[in-house]
Amino acid sequence: MAKCEICGEEFNHVSWKHLRYKHGLSLDEYRAMGHRTGVEKDCPICGKMFIPRRRRQITCSKKCGYIYISQTYSGENSPAYGKEFSHSEESKRKISKHNARY
Ligand SMILES: [Zn+2]
Ligand SMILES: [Zn+2]
Repeated sequence: MAKCEICGEEFNHVSWKHLRYKHGLSLDEYRAMGHRTGVEKDCPICGKMFIPRRRRQITCSKKCGYIYISQTYSGENSPAYGKEFSHSEESKRKISKHNARY
Protein backbone atom coordinates (compact mmCIF):
# COMPACT_ATOMS: atom_id res chain seq x y z
CA MET A 1 0.00 0.00 0.00
CA ALA A 2 1.07 3.54 -0.67
CA LYS A 3 -0.47 6.75 0.44
CA CYS A 4 -0.64 9.94 -1.55
CA GLU A 5 1.37 12.21 0.67
CA ILE A 6 -0.52 15.24 -0.51
CA CYS A 7 -4.15 14.26 0.15
CA GLY A 8 -3.65 11.10 2.21
CA GLU A 9 -5.68 8.84 -0.07
CA GLU A 10 -4.50 5.21 -0.19
CA PHE A 11 -3.64 3.17 -3.28
CA ASN A 12 -1.67 0.11 -4.26
CA HIS A 13 0.64 2.72 -5.64
CA VAL A 14 0.08 6.38 -6.32
CA SER A 15 -0.62 6.73 -10.02
CA TRP A 16 0.39 9.55 -12.30
CA LYS A 17 -3.30 9.96 -13.13
CA HIS A 18 -4.16 10.69 -9.53
CA LEU A 19 -1.35 13.22 -9.27
CA ARG A 20 -2.20 14.80 -12.58
CA TYR A 21 -5.94 15.11 -12.03
CA LYS A 22 -6.08 15.76 -8.31
CA HIS A 23 -2.97 17.79 -7.76
CA GLY A 24 -1.74 18.94 -11.16
CA LEU A 25 1.62 17.28 -10.61
CA SER A 26 3.68 14.85 -12.62
CA LEU A 27 5.26 11.81 -11.02
CA ASP A 28 8.63 13.49 -11.32
CA GLU A 29 7.41 16.58 -9.52
CA TYR A 30 5.87 14.44 -6.79
CA ARG A 31 9.11 12.52 -6.33
CA ALA A 32 11.11 15.73 -6.43
CA MET A 33 9.16 16.78 -3.34
CA GLY A 34 10.65 13.75 -1.60
CA HIS A 35 7.47 11.64 -1.82
CA ARG A 36 7.19 8.05 -2.94
CA THR A 37 4.46 6.47 -4.99
CA GLY A 38 5.04 2.96 -3.63
CA VAL A 39 6.70 1.53 -6.72
CA GLU A 40 10.19 2.85 -6.01
CA LYS A 41 12.88 0.61 -4.64
CA ASP A 42 16.29 1.30 -3.20
CA CYS A 43 19.19 -0.23 -5.09
CA PRO A 44 21.05 -2.56 -2.68
CA ILE A 45 24.32 -1.80 -4.47
CA CYS A 46 24.45 1.97 -4.84
CA GLY A 47 21.50 2.97 -2.64
CA LYS A 48 19.85 4.99 -5.39
CA MET A 49 16.07 5.12 -5.60
CA PHE A 50 14.77 3.62 -8.84
CA ILE A 51 11.56 2.49 -10.45
CA PRO A 52 11.61 -1.20 -11.37
CA ARG A 53 10.53 -1.94 -14.92
CA ARG A 54 10.18 -5.62 -14.22
CA ARG A 55 8.58 -7.04 -11.12
CA ARG A 56 11.69 -8.86 -10.00
CA GLN A 57 14.13 -6.10 -10.75
CA ILE A 58 16.33 -5.66 -7.70
CA THR A 59 18.91 -3.13 -8.74
CA CYS A 60 18.74 0.28 -10.43
CA SER A 61 20.76 -0.62 -13.50
CA LYS A 62 22.35 -3.48 -15.36
CA LYS A 63 25.70 -2.46 -13.95
CA CYS A 64 24.49 -2.76 -10.36
CA GLY A 65 22.68 -5.95 -11.37
CA TYR A 66 25.94 -7.57 -12.40
CA ILE A 67 27.57 -6.57 -9.13
CA TYR A 68 24.58 -7.85 -7.21
CA ILE A 69 24.55 -11.17 -9.04
CA SER A 70 28.28 -11.68 -8.61
CA GLN A 71 27.88 -10.99 -4.90
CA THR A 72 24.82 -13.14 -4.35
CA TYR A 73 24.63 -16.14 -6.61
CA SER A 74 26.57 -19.33 -6.59
CA GLY A 75 26.52 -22.17 -9.10
CA GLU A 76 23.14 -23.38 -7.85
CA ASN A 77 21.14 -20.97 -9.95
CA SER A 78 23.65 -20.18 -12.60
CA PRO A 79 25.77 -22.89 -14.22
CA ALA A 80 27.98 -20.13 -15.60
CA TYR A 81 29.34 -19.53 -12.13
CA GLY A 82 31.02 -22.90 -12.12
CA LYS A 83 32.23 -25.29 -9.46
CA GLU A 84 35.05 -23.32 -7.95
CA PHE A 85 32.92 -20.50 -6.68
CA SER A 86 33.16 -20.01 -2.96
CA HIS A 87 31.32 -17.63 -0.69
CA SER A 88 32.62 -15.17 1.77
CA GLU A 89 30.62 -14.75 4.98
CA GLU A 90 29.31 -11.51 3.56
CA SER A 91 27.81 -13.07 0.45
CA LYS A 92 26.31 -15.93 2.48
CA ARG A 93 24.51 -13.41 4.60
CA LYS A 94 23.17 -11.68 1.51
CA ILE A 95 21.98 -14.93 -0.02
CA SER A 96 19.92 -15.89 3.00
CA LYS A 97 18.41 -12.42 3.06
CA HIS A 98 17.64 -12.69 -0.63
CA ASN A 99 15.96 -16.07 -0.31
CA ALA A 100 13.88 -14.94 2.61
CA ARG A 101 12.54 -12.02 0.67
CA TYR A 102 11.70 -13.85 -2.52
ZN1 LIG B 1 -3.54 12.85 -3.64
ZN1 LIG C 1 22.39 0.89 -8.25
